[in-house]
This record gives sequence, C-alpha cells and structure tokens, in this order.
Amino acid sequence: MAFKEYLEQRFLSEWKPRAPHLYVSALSIKDRVGKVEGACLRKEWFRLQNCRPTDHQNLRNRVIFGCGNVIEDKVVEQLKLADRLISQGVKLYWSKLNLSGEIDIIARDDEDTLSFIEVKSYAGYFSKNQILGPSKKTGGGGYTRRGPGTPRESHLMQLGMYLVMCSKADVKEGYKSQYEVDEMQELIKDIDTGYLLYVDREAPEQLAEFKVKIQDGGIWYRAVGFEKTEPVLFCNIEDITSRCQELTNHHINNTVPPRDFSSLYDKEQLADAYRRGEMTAKEAKTYEADGWVRKDDWQCRAFKDGNDELHGLYCQYFKLCQLVDLEEFKLEDHQVPQEETNN
Ligand code: SF4
Repeated sequence: MAFKEYLEQRFLSEWKPRAPHLYVSALSIKDRVGKVEGACLRKEWFRLQNCRPTDHQNLRNRVIFGCGNVIEDKVVEQLKLADRLISQGVKLYWSKLNLSGEIDIIARDDEDTLSFIEVKSYAGYFSKNQILGPSKKTGGGGYTRRGPGTPRESHLMQLGMYLVMCSKADVKEGYKSQYEVDEMQELIKDIDTGYLLYVDREAPEQLAEFKVKIQDGGIWYRAVGFEKTEPVLFCNIEDITSRCQELTNHHINNTVPPRDFSSLYDKEQLADAYRRGEMTAKEAKTYEADGWVRKDDWQCRAFKDGNDELHGLYCQYFKLCQLVDLEEFKLEDHQVPQEETNN
C-alpha cells in the first residue's frame, strides 16, 4: 500500500465514537430559499446514531486541521507573552440543546474586558476574496484589500453560539488555565463579544479580524479595520436552534434526515443555481450552451483512490449516505455495538 494511502486509512482504524451530543462546530441554518449553510443534518445524524464512518479521510484535510492547530498555538503564545491570555480550550455543555463546544481562546483587551477568540486558517483564491474582501494582486506578490470581507457562515454560527451559551452552559474541566471551574463559569458569564481571527496559511501576514456580537436575538458581525461600515446581521439564533431541534427529533424518532447537499445536481437544482448566480463563469457558459452541467455541493464531493474506488472528500459517511436509499438498508448493520462504545 502506498504510504499516502496508509496514512489516509489510519483515520478509520483510529476512529472512536464521540459523545452523542450536538456540536457547536457542526451547526447549520436554512436560508430564505431553503439552502443549508453549515453542517449536513444527515451526516450529524449518522454520528449521533453511532455509525462507523465508511470513508477514510483525505490526508490533505488532516494536514489543514494540523496547520490550524499550529497557528492557534502561535496566537496563544503571543497572547501569553503579552499577558492577555485568560484561558485556552474551554469546553461548554448546554443541556437544553444537548450541545457541546470548545472555545479556542479567552483573552482580555486593554480595558481588561474579556472576549472569546476563534482562530481560523484559510487558503486559496475564493477564501481570500470572501474573507479579505475583493482584492487585487500587487507587483510584490502581495494583495491590496478593497473591501471588508465576510466571515465563513459556520464560524459565525460557532462563535455566536458560544456567546449565547456562556451564560447558560456548564464549563467542563480540562481547559488550560489557572482558574478553577466555578471561577471560569463566573468569568465567562457576561462575555458579550467574540473575535474571528483569520490567518492565511499561504501568507500568514494576511490577517483578517471580525468582531461578533449578539443583539436582538441575532448574530451580528463587523470587519475590524472597517469601522465605518454598518454591522451585518448574519442570522437569528432561533434559525440555529430550530435546526438543532430538527436533528434531535430525527435522532429520537430514528428517522433519517433528508440530504442537505447533493453529489449531483438535478435539472431543478441547476436552474436554481443558475438563477441565483451560484455557478462559476465556466459552469454558467456550459449550462447556457447545453442546458446541463455537472455540478455538486462540495460537502458531498468524492475522490478516487488508487483502485478507482470513490471516497467522500469531506464527508466520512459518503458511502453510507448512498446506501440509505437501498431497500435492504439496515441501520444496525452500520452501528458500533454498545460494548465497543463503552470501552
Ligand atoms: S454525502 Fe452529502 S448528503 Fe450525504 S451525509 Fe454526507 S454531506 Fe450529507
């Protein structure tokens, strides 16, 4: 077996079931036209049902995850040196929604006010354009920013939900700080501001920062450095909690959620995507000429291994998701036995 393949397959052998909670890193909403932003409910349902992943993880994703951790550690190191770090990796659990999460960093500013910081890394042309705002290359290989940019939807949901949870959820042991659990619970309960700090993996000097607040039941953000722009409402908290409830209902009632994303758009999805301008220039050109173009959602994208076998690139339940439609599908054939979970 090739070394790369061996490393990729280790994901399956290393895999362990997680607690049957909903996770703040996998929240989602439906927008006004019914399009889902964030995690796929079906994918989260497989995990809640204790299903063993069917698809090994692409090495690239694991490296990106590792890079993200290194960048976060560097930010923590600098905050520590500046005597601004309060804590790292604070785990919260909110029983009302059965929701778990872990805040990257709690830090204090010049005025001694505490805030949450979530450190995110990004790379590539499209991410640059979204996060830094439309930009153009300069002669020296750098970029000139022209706009305030926009954070990723899933990151806004994550940080927004931490701001909601801090006065409601229980702090769990295991974070890095000198504070006891009850002291930490007290410290975070009034935090009302969070920061999304984006670092470009290809050019780490390209930082983007967004200030996130909860107001009138909604998650609002504003790009730091663009204070003249108006704060933007991303979504209402209720949009997120209703999706949490939907997933919980599917879990309790043992019903498979419909697919939130698609590995191949049908005619109707193509027409919608074209109308809403969600096609690349190349896709739109082919669609206009042929009335069809191959299009998918990246969440359901697959890659072929050396044996021409398809695996989910971002979804570790890609193959299981296809099996659900078969008449002979039985969920219990894919669930980890309880004895194994408890070990
Ligand atoms: S393959 Fe796509 S639709 Fe199916 S569970 Fe994964 S992300 Fe969801």
